[in-house]
Amino acid sequence: MKKIAIYPGSFDPITNGHVDILNRSLKLFDEVILLIATHPTKKASYSLETRKAMIRAVIATMDSNRIKVDTTDGLTIQYAQQHHAQALVRGLRTVPDFDYEHDFFKANQFIDDSIDIVFFMARTSHEFVSSSMIKKLHESKINVENLVPKEIIKFL
Ligand code: ADP
Repeated sequence: MKKIAIYPGSFDPITNGHVDILNRSLKLFDEVILLIATHPTKKASYSLETRKAMIRAVIATMDSNRIKVDTTDGLTIQYAQQHHAQALVRGLRTVPDFDYEHDFFKANQFIDDSIDIVFFMARTSHEFVSSSMIKKLHESKINVENLVPKEIIKFL
């Protein structure tokens, strides 16, 4: 049976931190679906279409037949059920991430505890990398070339 994982996030924009988690999850799963999920409280800087185009540009340089990109305005766990995924994938950087992911995990388990969540610890070099940090640095004319895939630069 094909092992499918869903990696949900805002990807606003996709960063090297996200790509690292994606590459590590591809070692455990046959297929990973990057799911751009709309966030009720977070206003995105880039449209869904632009975020999708950014991800497409990045995965075109990777093992692209095992990586898919999709969007949902529903619950990630329901998307996972519909797509017969075995697990969700998330990344953990700091304690605030842990608190958020703890609640996310409990809520998802309440809905469907047959779909597990696999957490990857951020590498030290990516611990401070977030989409919002990238945007702040870029706005202040700081070079972010080492923090995002090179395909993303032209979109910023
Ligand atoms: P969300 O709005 O759902 O948190 P993000 O795009 O910010 O979406 O993040 C998606 C997932 O990727 C989250 O689990 C987040 O913790 C993880 N993540 C983001 N940046 C990094 C990074 N630099 N290293 C490891 N995990 C990360």
